[in-house]
Amino acid sequence: MTVRPVVITGEPVLHRVAAPVTAFDDELRGLVEDMYETMDAAHGVGLAAPQIGVGLRVFTYDMSNDDGVPARGVVVNPVVTTSAVPVTHPDPHDDAEGCLSVPGESFPLKRPLVARVSGFDAAGERLDFTATGWFARCMQHEFDHLNGTLYVDRLDGRWSKKARKAVKANGWGTPGLTWMPGVDPDPFGHDDLDDLDDHDHHEHVG
Ligand code: ZN
Repeated sequence: MTVRPVVITGEPVLHRVAAPVTAFDDELRGLVEDMYETMDAAHGVGLAAPQIGVGLRVFTYDMSNDDGVPARGVVVNPVVTTSAVPVTHPDPHDDAEGCLSVPGESFPLKRPLVARVSGFDAAGERLDFTATGWFARCMQHEFDHLNGTLYVDRLDGRWSKKARKAVKANGWGTPGLTWMPGVDPDPFGHDDLDDLDDHDHHEHVG
């Protein structure tokens, strides 16, 4: 298993639709193992294959939930459908979302509170579950990655403007930029924490 570099916004694979997985073989299982390794080293609650430069419809997650779903898993060729989008303004604290491909930044975004998730595990067995709350947010964030959408693409008003400024200030938005989990300083400051609290929403990045 190998930790792989995480690509940063501007890398084309993050901004295009990923291809369906067609074979549940050793190559897929190797990819999934690397994704778990990379997600863990990056202290992410989720990771989509495009984030390690692979344009396939696969994401992993690691998030305890109230939905009776294993806290750790992989979804291949997912379909995620949601309840209505709340129209209220995002709360800077309660709705703060982050992404390993927009490292160190965080912006508030309202998401639907319920997501239906179906797809397959790495062995090709069917998966089908409902996610709520932050777990629903995680599922939507990762599914978005497979459709070439980053959470910063969904921000509204001043948050969208702030995010564009941050991308520019960091020198991102251009191909070829990566960071190395476990080697580079943790962009979200997880290095400083002894124990990650799943309920601290500021630590939720995928
Ligand atoms: Zn992300």
